[in-house]
Amino acid sequence: MFLTNLFNFKRECAHDKITPNMDSGYCPDCGQYIKNEWYITRCSCCGVKLKTNIRNGEVFPQYHYCMNCGSKEYQVEKLEKINFIDINFAVLQKKVLKAELKTNSTQCWQEKNNVQPKLLIQYL
Ligand SMILES: [Zn+2]
Ligand SMILES: [Zn+2]
Repeated sequence: MFLTNLFNFKRECAHDKITPNMDSGYCPDCGQYIKNEWYITRCSCCGVKLKTNIRNGEVFPQYHYCMNCGSKEYQVEKLEKINFIDINFAVLQKKVLKAELKTNSTQCWQEKNNVQPKLLIQYL
């Protein structure tokens, strides 16, 4: 039973219930607060929108070269709101917002209990 719990804990959640039409919300599967963020790539040269992919959190255009001007340079833009034109080009990233750092909290180990703190400054 213990091993099963450990395994489930380590599995990554895809946050499937946070659908693209939502802005943000708590994922009912893992309890994390998820924000939907849309990204689009644009040709740096002529400015046309490029069809965009995402892999391992990295946003990049689907094609290597701009179909309008042939440039290889591109820039990534974050969209505040998705609309029905951009949705054909944009990619969605489900970002986990950590309001409280529960897992990363620092732990202090007290090794000597009898030692008085030496750095206390006394103002007379
Ligand atoms: Zn989740
Ligand atoms: Zn271009």
